Amino acid sequence: MFKKILVANRGEIALRIQRACQELGVKAVMVYSEADRDAKYVKLAEEAVCIGPAPSALSYLNMPAIIAAAEVTDAEAIHPGYGFLSENADFAERVEKSGFQFIGPTPESIRIMGDKVSAKQAMIKAGVPCVPGSEGELPDDPTQIRRIAKSVGYPVIIKAAGGGGGRGMRVVHTEAALINAVAMTKAEAGAAFGNPAVYMEKFLQNPRHIEIQILADKHKNAVYLGERDCSMQRRHQKIIEEAPAPGIPRKLIERVGERCVAACKKIGYRGAGTFEFLYEDGEFYFIEMNTRVQVEHPVTEMITGVDIVKTQIMVAAGERLPFTQKQIQIRGHAIECRVNAEDPYKFVPSPGRVTMWHAPGGPGVRVDSHIYTNYFVPPNYDSMIGKIIVHGDTREQALARMRTALGETVVEGINTNIPLHRELMVDAKFMSGGTNIHYLEEWLVHHKR
Ligand code: ADP
Repeated sequence: MFKKILVANRGEIALRIQRACQELGVKAVMVYSEADRDAKYVKLAEEAVCIGPAPSALSYLNMPAIIAAAEVTDAEAIHPGYGFLSENADFAERVEKSGFQFIGPTPESIRIMGDKVSAKQAMIKAGVPCVPGSEGELPDDPTQIRRIAKSVGYPVIIKAAGGGGGRGMRVVHTEAALINAVAMTKAEAGAAFGNPAVYMEKFLQNPRHIEIQILADKHKNAVYLGERDCSMQRRHQKIIEEAPAPGIPRKLIERVGERCVAACKKIGYRGAGTFEFLYEDGEFYFIEMNTRVQVEHPVTEMITGVDIVKTQIMVAAGERLPFTQKQIQIRGHAIECRVNAEDPYKFVPSPGRVTMWHAPGGPGVRVDSHIYTNYFVPPNYDSMIGKIIVHGDTREQALARMRTALGETVVEGINTNIPLHRELMVDAKFMSGGTNIHYLEEWLVHHKR
């Protein structure tokens, strides 16, 4: 096991990784920007290094500063968390070239999965079900593009190979709009991602977002830890996640999970990863893979008892997965609400001083948050200030526990989306389970204030 690792992130995930290190008896070096010097995990840290001013480009995205921090503190490995540099293959490569272990997959794996065309091709080869569409990148010839769209069937979606964060996509309903839409997406993709390659998929009308968590070691072992339903989204941003996904047959999840495990073995994947799917009419369609720990990992931890972050660190150190697929048991139901510092209905960010913070508690309640009374939420980063996660024997019990937990939570001084969560936890449709990816946005239209 490592003696010391460097945590190259901030906020709740920095604290989460620090906690995992503590349990493993590994020293954690925390890095921080000038805006984060009062963060809880920085105060708790045995060692902390300032890596630059508030803007991410100068601190959390500053590769030389992060690698230098690992050098001066004698860390052996770097945990990138999520966001920032976590899916940057060049960073992973620089970390390893500098003699540190990157806690994540190889740079090659990140590169393959970071390009959606190559990711999809790898998945098709491994037998993972994908959205029907073009075989790889679209050609330049308009006649060929029209022919592909016709065989896929309208509506289609044009997507940038290098896209991410819900950008670089365009839905096309008719042949008349096709060629222009392809040209526009290509131009945008070239400007935004430095890669003009685009591909085509069938546009699914009312899918759910279902994802499969996997863990793999360096000894060709891999397991899947069941699925998560992350369909409650606004502008492609998840706000509520749960596990298991309501109403999807276990047998079907097992089949897809096994395909994901086979794909991991085939590409030599190691560490934690998530296969994201759209799910419609009883079918799974792969859309992309995330090669890192995800915000919503706690719901999987709650129903499996597996500590995903600890396991990430263990397998990066070369240890074998401490469990087999057969030993993974799904127990009960878990729900996560992301707490954002923002207006609950207008979604305007609300940074500033938290004058009062009271976290909920009780059976089956977990709070992952770095905030405290008198903490100042900096305006420079993502608005998420924590996550409330509950577990129950059944989905109904989990919902009841979430309602109680949200009722107990007090945040004063800034706005949060907790009032929105309180309403959604008593919404009849959400309570019955299985809402699709458009549900929340439609709900917001009908509940305008
Ligand atoms: P990103 O990396 O930008 O998040 P994804 O490929 O994961 O891109 O897609 C983001 C979202 O776009 C999906 O969650 C879904 O809402 C929508 N989407 C993507 N592909 C399709 C498709 N083929 N049909 C319908 N919706 C899609």
